Amino acid sequence: MNRLTDKGRAALHWAFLAALREEKNEIGSIHLLMGIQCANPQILADVSLSSLGISPLDVSDVAQIQQEMQKRFMQASLARSKEESGVPGIAVPFAFGSKEIMEIAAKCSDSFGARTIGTPHLLYATLRVDSQLAGKLGQANLDGARVLSLCRDYKDGEEGESTAQMIQKMQGRTFRSGIGYDLHRLAGGRKLIVGGIELPFDKGPVGHSDGDVLAHAMCDAILGAAGAGDIGTHFPDTDPKWKGANSMLFLEHARKLLDEKHFAIEWIDAVVITEKPKLGPHFPKMREALAKALGVSIDHIHLKAKTNEGVDAIGRGEAIAAHVVATLTSR
Ligand code: MG
Repeated sequence: MNRLTDKGRAALHWAFLAALREEKNEIGSIHLLMGIQCANPQILADVSLSSLGISPLDVSDVAQIQQEMQKRFMQASLARSKEESGVPGIAVPFAFGSKEIMEIAAKCSDSFGARTIGTPHLLYATLRVDSQLAGKLGQANLDGARVLSLCRDYKDGEEGESTAQMIQKMQGRTFRSGIGYDLHRLAGGRKLIVGGIELPFDKGPVGHSDGDVLAHAMCDAILGAAGAGDIGTHFPDTDPKWKGANSMLFLEHARKLLDEKHFAIEWIDAVVITEKPKLGPHFPKMREALAKALGVSIDHIHLKAKTNEGVDAIGRGEAIAAHVVATLTSR
């Protein structure tokens, strides 16, 4: 709770009031949505809550609201005193409907590297726990992807843009895709490193660097999308500097190039082809390592695994390969 921004905290206060007006004992997702709208009207500026059958909260008459709250507190206090005679103090009959909302909002903020939790994260979490509400808002032009963009663009101290501003920004953006492919022969006595993670296996890639096919294909896809050549031009395998190099360095270099060219990674999709070992169980760690090197959230990286059905060099376990498509946006 102490990571909440002023507007985030205000959203909870207004949500509390919304629940109070409906004489509910719990703050539900709809109340929180109303609270978010009151605290940061900009974020839901293009969404008419009333057209979704939700009556927006009128927060213009603060004195009346205070009066109403005081009355409810008193009632609650009296009710509790009767139940537990002799116990003084004010009892609040309210509970925050879903602890889950705060947990999801916190995780969302973490995943985009923010320190504070703002109204975009609360909105994201609200829609995650209430799929019905998410469906309604999706129809009103505020779908999950758009809310996620609000969270991605969130900066500590600012509360994000309205959807209208965002659509305008999106329209000015350029999208570019790049493709990357890599293959390495597998031989005994080499470490098998894929996606920055060492996997237990009796063979590994033959190569100048650590031979990480996934990282190499990813690097090429990113460089291709940015129109910045390929991995060979940036890290020639004739240069002893790159002998045995950790391929995460290549991705970090690609990331710097993207910054210089004002490109951001929108999405990366990859497939790694190998007969053995099974890669799926290692994907969470690989995504973490790749996302860290590229400075993006793991939500931007998608990994898939395939075998080659026993056919060709890959099928015989003599090689490992990867294909990657990277999509960038200008910023
Ligand atoms: Mg390679």
